[in-house]
Amino acid sequence: MTKPQARPSIHGAASDFESVLQIVKDLDGAIINHLVWAKKLHHALVCEEPPEPNDLDEDAHTRCKLGRWYHAEHKYPELEEFPGFKKIGTLHKSMHDAARSLLDKKRHGRPIAPHDYDHFMDRTIALKAQIRYLQNSLMRDVCSVDQLTGAWNRLWMNSKLEREYERMVRTGDSCYLCMADIDHFKSINDAYGHNAGDEVLRTTVRLFAAQLRKYDTIFRYGGEEFLICMPHSQADRVESVLNRLRVKLEETRVALPGGDKVSVTASFGVAPLRREMTILDAVESADQALFVAKASGRNRVYMFGA
Ligand code: GH3
Ligand code: MG
Ligand code: MG
Repeated sequence: MTKPQARPSIHGAASDFESVLQIVKDLDGAIINHLVWAKKLHHALVCEEPPEPNDLDEDAHTRCKLGRWYHAEHKYPELEEFPGFKKIGTLHKSMHDAARSLLDKKRHGRPIAPHDYDHFMDRTIALKAQIRYLQNSLMRDVCSVDQLTGAWNRLWMNSKLEREYERMVRTGDSCYLCMADIDHFKSINDAYGHNAGDEVLRTTVRLFAAQLRKYDTIFRYGGEEFLICMPHSQADRVESVLNRLRVKLEETRVALPGGDKVSVTASFGVAPLRREMTILDAVESADQALFVAKASGRNRVYMFGA
């Protein structure tokens, strides 16, 4: 699993599906485990049974199943950067602290006021909600990312472009769409094999992502075609950024799995997203501009209507 990123971002995390499923499963286990734990705690509070010895310790939050997983056992350091992960740690500790405080009162024969109990239960409920939020975010990310290249996929593209369009209409800001297509890509597959082609796709996205701004977004539109969404930009700026991308790609020697190195180029068709047109129209215009870039020799940037 590579580092999960906040959305929206220039390209998604190329999170591998198996790792994400394992995390979601671990967290499901943690929720069940805490329900069982809560039952035992209520036995101690309500049925006069002795508490679990661990629950009286200050570091109880590091000893339960979730605590061990959270603080020591999970194998994904990148997870710690994920939105909402740290909040789970805070809520979890605070829930165990609240449980200890209830057990302490019970042990010393002091009354447990409703707000003491609510304090504990509110944290228990919030923790469960926070875990669900993390699970949903992880699943959403893994479903939005093209697994081969780490670019956002078509599914995510549709909702991202909808939001970009609404933002543009609301603010009057500009936004450009670029359709980029690798030149003669089929010949790479034919000459070096499909794995080599895959490596070229990965390198291209990495290189594009490194050159663009953080609010630009790369989507894998299909095969060797990528749609780049560039908000807050003027035409000349977009053109110069894309030309920089184009030259960088041309100058890059892509190391292939078999040890060979190849250079590739790409063609770029650009069109503005305008309030009086649909998103589909703008994509179509960028595609037409790409067609012109290809027809006029490839390895170039062409502005729709230029
Ligand atoms: P042009 O310059 O006109 O764009 O020519 P091209 O060869 O790049 O375009 P064409 O559409 O003829 O071929 C695209 C190739 O991309 C065909 C397809 O097998 C290959 N392809 C599509 N998806 C993948 C993929 O995920 N991995 C690899 N290795 N190849 C892919
Ligand atoms: Mg192509
Ligand atoms: Mg193509």
